[in-house]
Amino acid sequence: MRLATVIDGTAHAAALRRRAAEIAGRLRRETGTAPGLATVLVGDHPASQVYVRAKGRACAGAEVSAFDIRLPGDISEARLASEIEQLNRDERIDGVLVQLPLPRHIDPHRILGSIDPAKDVDGFHPLNVGRLWNGLPTMIPCTPQGCIRLLRTVHIDLSGRHAVVIGRSNIVGKPLVALLLQADCTVTVVHSKTRNADEICRSADIVIAAAGRPGMVKGDWIKPGATVIDVGINPAPTPEGRGRVVGDVDFLSVSEIAGAITPVPGGVGPMTIACLLLNTLLAACRRRGIADPAI
Ligand code: NDP
Repeated sequence: MRLATVIDGTAHAAALRRRAAEIAGRLRRETGTAPGLATVLVGDHPASQVYVRAKGRACAGAEVSAFDIRLPGDISEARLASEIEQLNRDERIDGVLVQLPLPRHIDPHRILGSIDPAKDVDGFHPLNVGRLWNGLPTMIPCTPQGCIRLLRTVHIDLSGRHAVVIGRSNIVGKPLVALLLQADCTVTVVHSKTRNADEICRSADIVIAAAGRPGMVKGDWIKPGATVIDVGINPAPTPEGRGRVVGDVDFLSVSEIAGAITPVPGGVGPMTIACLLLNTLLAACRRRGIADPAI
């Protein structure tokens, strides 16, 4: 039996982080300033704490100054918006990232809309979302950007391929659709109300799963030789109680059918953080009037 090629997200992300460090070094030499990223964590959501720590570590490795802003879970929406306003004005900071989810009493749209679009390294500000859909220079959201970069390691040309995206969230599914259309794919979106998701996936050259449903995509959903990108990160503790995560794709059955597949962990996850660094450097260059670096 021929098993799918495993796309090594950890290795691709390490190469991107090295590139990010090079660009940061060049910026320091040419402008005497360090790029800076502020992460804003509201409350004590355990997974968010892990993500924010990982982002801080990545900054350290790429010579990007990290500003770790922790705010109480009961902060008012107005107060949070004014904290972000301060970060918008702070010259040391090129990127502002508000870790989601926010506490329920805070409207994420208002908060994401209060970030200076030039510092919006997550690419969630409505102006940047609109620019993405219009094909204009923007900040490309990190996880979808990571997926496309991994896809391009398998397919130099995505034109004419049928891509199925499972999930239509604002942070993963929808921006992926915009990026795949820009790459001339034919795109189908599957969501929780879709009928015959398995049949639709079987017609795809590319399946990107971002539903948050552990092991949902099985081997018999996949066309032989298709490329499968697994965005899902779902907690699945071992019987001994050890922390573990699994994806939305049933890796064992799908890797017997697919041509290429990303693992979880070690696939899209590390790419998301590497793309955040790249976006921070892009923001830093643009804010200093320097042309976008080739990445
Ligand atoms: P959301 O919960 O915001 O969105 C999930 C989407 O999947 C929705 O559009 C939903 O449809 C759809 N969906 C849910 N169940 C089904 C189903 N049975 N069949 C088809 N579609 C379904 O999740 P996110 O987009 O934020 O995240 C998705 C997954 O990706 C999660 O596991 C998350 O942890 C992971 N993730 C990983 C990242 C990484 O760096 N690797 C970064 C961000 C997220 P509907 O709209 O109809 O409700």
